[in-house]
Amino acid sequence: MAEYTVQHSCGHEVKHRYDGPETERRQREQWLRSKPCQICHHAEQIDTAAKQRDELNLPQLVGEEADIRWAEVVRAKAITHNRKFYARVTRKPDVASQEVLHEAIVQAADDAMRELSSQTAASWWIDHRFDVIEHVRKATIAAVEPLMNGGE
Ligand SMILES: [Zn+2]
Repeated sequence: MAEYTVQHSCGHEVKHRYDGPETERRQREQWLRSKPCQICHHAEQIDTAAKQRDELNLPQLVGEEADIRWAEVVRAKAITHNRKFYARVTRKPDVASQEVLHEAIVQAADDAMRELSSQTAASWWIDHRFDVIEHVRKATIAAVEPLMNGGE
């Protein structure tokens, strides 16, 4: 496999190994040149997560240094997603008869959102990285289901 030195968008030169017909190699090189190198990409993600922590007004995480950095990325994504869902699901209903349902939703969504925002253990975010995106939605469904099945 041939080795090529590619200058990435961040300015760093990195050696890459790839093969294939010339057009494919050119495309590959162009694609690589348009992106920052892996280290810069990683650093960018950490920067973004730290900025988001301030913007989202979240507490400092606790845990191992490396865990915190990873958890920070997981959390920023999850909080943003859950807050969007929260805003949608807690919107006031047009129909007055849905008010009981609405109150139950707001209550459950509030609790779930508060639980999420106050979670400061880096290890918790890493453990829950695959399902935390759905945290508020799951809590809301769990709260609403008994009301739906109970008739009315
Ligand atoms: Zn770089």
